[in-house]
Amino acid sequence: MIMGWKEKDWKKNRNHKGGESRRQIEEDMLRMQGLIACPNCDLTYSLYQPKCPHCDEPNKSHYPAKV
Ligand SMILES: [Zn+2]
Repeated sequence: MIMGWKEKDWKKNRNHKGGESRRQIEEDMLRMQGLIACPNCDLTYSLYQPKCPHCDEPNKSHYPAKV
């Protein structure tokens, strides 16, 4: 029997839940549909457009910043 994994898994789940807001989940779902929510005006538009057609806010997902 391995004793360590359960605690590790629990911690991971806990972090995951705390770190991922509802908003983040919504963004992920939009992304799966090829859409993105504009952080500025909150409207959705195509993930493949380089900027928001409503307010010209640059699409940061289109050119993801390297972490
Ligand atoms: Zn916008």
